[in-house]
Amino acid sequence: KRKYFMAHRIGVIQRSKIRELFERASKMENVISLGIGEPDFDTPNNIKEAAKRALDEGWTHYTPNAGIPELREAIAEYYKKFYGIDVEVDNVLVTAGAYEATYLAFETMLEQGDEVIIPDPAFVCYVEDAKLAEAKPIRLPLREENDFKPDIDELLERITKRTRMIVINYPNNPTGAVLDKETAKAIADVAEDYNIYILSDEPYEHFLYDDAKHYPMIKFAPDNTILANSFSKTFAMTGWRLGFVIAPTQIIREMIKLHAYIIGNVASFVQVAGIEALRSKESWKAVEEMRKEYNERRKLVLQRLRKMPYIKVREPKGAFYVFPNISETEMSSEEFSEWLLEKAKVVVIPGTAFGENGEGYVRISYATSREKLIEAMDRIEKALEEI
Ligand code: PLP
Repeated sequence: KRKYFMAHRIGVIQRSKIRELFERASKMENVISLGIGEPDFDTPNNIKEAAKRALDEGWTHYTPNAGIPELREAIAEYYKKFYGIDVEVDNVLVTAGAYEATYLAFETMLEQGDEVIIPDPAFVCYVEDAKLAEAKPIRLPLREENDFKPDIDELLERITKRTRMIVINYPNNPTGAVLDKETAKAIADVAEDYNIYILSDEPYEHFLYDDAKHYPMIKFAPDNTILANSFSKTFAMTGWRLGFVIAPTQIIREMIKLHAYIIGNVASFVQVAGIEALRSKESWKAVEEMRKEYNERRKLVLQRLRKMPYIKVREPKGAFYVFPNISETEMSSEEFSEWLLEKAKVVVIPGTAFGENGEGYVRISYATSREKLIEAMDRIEKALEEI
């Protein structure tokens, strides 16, 4: 208890820069936000109907802490069906989104002073989770030349006696990168050889483009992987707060203890809707439609950015982000974001919000309608031409 109090009192937890920019922009008029990483689609109708039915059927009470058994079964079934991976129900814990899943991984796996390898750039919550667990984040640079994948030698150089866990997140936020099978296997081998756990955060697994494939980390290092996943992005359910962890039994047991006192259980009717999401053809059809639309937007944004002065961009193959290099503007990432908000009224996130190595980049989210994206691209182009 004391450590949480301390953490807040001395202000070690940083407010997300993404939310900060977003809030500032919301006070301005006529702003287009390419800032927030959240699907702009509505949750598929069959899932919403299932939730309404569940309420009428009396799903208004506590459930087992680990989640409704049928949902845990549906999650295990899903891994078998999609990836041919055997998952036992006892290895699944239903959480309030991937946020809770990653938090539980840090809190249960790390003791004070333990080291956790966190890529740079990386999604914002991991470093803050490490601080809450009083663990030491060791940043592992992800470089554009290497398609924003970890370099295995650099990973090995960072391993010490205190290394307990490494965070992996593909398809990646903020870069949109995906991980190839060889690199995924190599990371798994390192984890097994050095007895390190991989926290693999995989909420964008269904947003893959062209020939990209996803390899859940539990496929390669089942005994060393804590897999965090979520319904948020896949089924456009960010507000429902539904996710899960898959981990070795002993770890799940420890996680349930913490989860039992902070969440109790995820809302009962939301869990019932989660069963529908995973088992119904209708929801998967909706996922594929969203994926296709994201792909069109991705192509649109790439095509436009490539024609703009000062901007260099690699083709991302996953998630719904583009991470262009803006260093030729001679502005820092933060200066560029501020300048673009003032000059073009477009919100993009400075790469440095995700770590020092994000300097020289900005994150553009294309989870926004094509009309808005076109208007935003027109504005960015005009602003850049006037430099
Ligand atoms: N992990 C990554 C990489 C994310 O991008 C997000 C949300 O943006 C989350 C976790 C948290 O998602 P959830 O809504 O499932 O808590």
